[in-house]
Amino acid sequence: TITNHMPTEELQALDAAHHMHPFTANGELAQKGARVITRADGVTLTDSEGNQILDAMAGLWCVNIGYGRDELADVAARQMRELPYYNTFFQTTHRPAIELAQKIAQLAPGDLNNVFFAGSGSEANDTNIRMVRHYWALKGKPSKSIIISRKNAYHGSSVGSGSLGGMSAMHEQGGLPIPDVHHINQPNWWAEGGDMSPEDFGIARAQELEQAILELGEDRVAAFIAEPVQGAGGVIVAPDSYWPEVQKICDKYEILLIADEVICGFGRTGEWFGSQKLDIRPDIMTIAKGLSSGYAPIGGSVVSDEVASVIAQSEFNHGYTYSGHPVAAAVALENLRILEEENILGHVRDVAAPYLKEKWESLVAHPLVGEAKIVGMMGSIALTPHKESRAAFAAETGTVGYICRERCFANNLVMRHVGDRMIISPPLILKPEEIDMLMDRALTSLDECYAQ
Ligand code: PLP
Repeated sequence: TITNHMPTEELQALDAAHHMHPFTANGELAQKGARVITRADGVTLTDSEGNQILDAMAGLWCVNIGYGRDELADVAARQMRELPYYNTFFQTTHRPAIELAQKIAQLAPGDLNNVFFAGSGSEANDTNIRMVRHYWALKGKPSKSIIISRKNAYHGSSVGSGSLGGMSAMHEQGGLPIPDVHHINQPNWWAEGGDMSPEDFGIARAQELEQAILELGEDRVAAFIAEPVQGAGGVIVAPDSYWPEVQKICDKYEILLIADEVICGFGRTGEWFGSQKLDIRPDIMTIAKGLSSGYAPIGGSVVSDEVASVIAQSEFNHGYTYSGHPVAAAVALENLRILEEENILGHVRDVAAPYLKEKWESLVAHPLVGEAKIVGMMGSIALTPHKESRAAFAAETGTVGYICRERCFANNLVMRHVGDRMIISPPLILKPEEIDMLMDRALTSLDECYAQ
């Protein structure tokens, strides 16, 4: 048996022999050996060498309540004994799925009172593609099938959700995108704003949505999908002018607005949903990750009464074996109970986010850092060789972000890089002294990167 007591090199050799890692050059990794994480508690990971690492990414943006909460393990064990599995197809249901759907409906804004469960964010976005097209067909407008998304967006890795995503490196592999998905530019002022003010640029990028609708034909566009704050694209915070203009355009042309809340949801921005933070009125929200704080795989689409009532007219031929999985649903409910009863969003709003914002934004004083952006508990810095011109590093410099991320890891800090942007998305329970530790390690890593 493989145990954590096996020497690291042996674990790495077995990993290299049999385990194909996602988003990884596996041949290169086999030479290096993967880092083996053995335990986690609070905001801290332990690796097989005994290093204590501050996880400023909350895993993959998901461990919102932090690691090591026994309550979730207890709930999972209880649920496994009582009803480990049953499906929600064919006119059956069970208590965890019912209670979780009710709880999500209570937390969600507006009349988003209806939940279609999935096992992940990717599956939920696949649901959204089919649901919005089916909705328009049922409304007598089957030509409305195009979904507009944004370049550099990440909405998942399935064929459908990967097509919604706007990452060219993904589209180059495996025949993406599917037909009738159209990508417009993202509101990344730092990299693409040129001489425009951020506010003018925000309006211009929002108006690209209107131009696309007019070019493609109002009668052919079903929906627009975007994250309130683009996460895996590099924590791109849109200028304040952007979202009000996008909302206006969606309303004007009756385009369904899908807010992908997989990262922004469940407290990451300081509100339950990023849409509430940015005053967006979506027709559908995609949820996953923080719904269970990553303790169990679960996602879903949260749908307005109007869309749900149309879909309810006939059988929607769509669903997953694990839609509303009872153990995952019970774990998610317990996670939401902890978020609520421990007032973790209050901690974000009153303590963690203001303190982190002050420290994070001070990083612009560092010679490598151009812009520093943060919303709630998701932040980014742009690394640059020349702040005034907002220049990017030359390709031959290598990916400076990658070098910086490796320095962070050597200093026991997990940050992520997207090109030359460094990003954080720590557990929401982060205490001020842990923020100090995060900042110390980040600054040391930036200094080392600069010296290199
Ligand atoms: N949507 C967004 C915004 C995401 O960040 C992700 C994952 O990172 C997904 C969808 C896909 O979720 P999953 O990995 O659970 O399929």
